[in-house]
Amino acid sequence: MSPQRTEIKRHPERSAPEQACEILAAGRVAHLAFVEREQPFAIPFGYHFDLRQPDRLYLHGSRASRALTLAASGAPLCVTVTLLDGLVYSKSAMNHSLNYRSVVCFGRGQEITDRAAQRGIYDLMIRRYHPGRTEGRDYARATEEQLAATLLVEIAIEECSAKARIGGPTGPLDSDPWAPGTCGVVAP
Ligand SMILES: Cc1cc2nc3c(=O)[nH]c(=O)nc-3n(C[C@H](O)[C@H](O)[C@H](O)COP(=O)(O)OP(=O)(O)OC[C@H]3O[C@@H](n4cnc5c(N)ncnc54)[C@H](O)[C@@H]3O)c2cc1C
Repeated sequence: MSPQRTEIKRHPERSAPEQACEILAAGRVAHLAFVEREQPFAIPFGYHFDLRQPDRLYLHGSRASRALTLAASGAPLCVTVTLLDGLVYSKSAMNHSLNYRSVVCFGRGQEITDRAAQRGIYDLMIRRYHPGRTEGRDYARATEEQLAATLLVEIAIEECSAKARIGGPTGPLDSDPWAPGTCGVVAP
């Protein structure tokens, strides 16, 4: 693999590798990118990530899913997670922007077939999205048929990059209080 693929070339000062795990733990939607017969795809998924095992993440869904089947095949994958932190507006059209934290992961997937491992990951995934929910009290345990119909893919993260933009607009007029127009940051 190219050693260049995780090098942030545009705005390298925004490189934030130390935030990668935090971003993956906070994210809710991952975009899975893969190439099938020379056609690139990027498909959104819910996912599971555990800070205690930061070298992997999990996707799951129907066994009929084309994307998941390909992800489980060992083909090269790219997974991105983005947190949108702010909408940045500037006195210059050119300098409107977004504050964000994002991670780009490269890796390969394999199916998790062990039922106990599957149950453990699904329980943790439910609690990641819905802290405090408990099997038996809040929801019924997955049946054997449901587990059999579901494909769980573990993606081993070979390497990743993280990038973050913070702060206000940086246009040439934005630091001049006398310049016409308005500027600032609002919550997304
Ligand atoms: C926030 C979010 C979370 C999701 N979480 C999961 C999950 O955890 N598990 C899961 O199995 N699925 C999830 N989905 C649905 C997922 O995006 C796919 O639609 C699904 O997995 C089927 O994938 P496929 O490759 O078999 O689709 P196919 O039907 O084979 O895809 C064929 C074409 O349909 C289009 N397509 C597929 N999915 C989408 C989409 N989401 N939006 C627009 N066009 C699409 C694309 O053009 C694609 O090339 C989620 C979707 C969203 C938006």
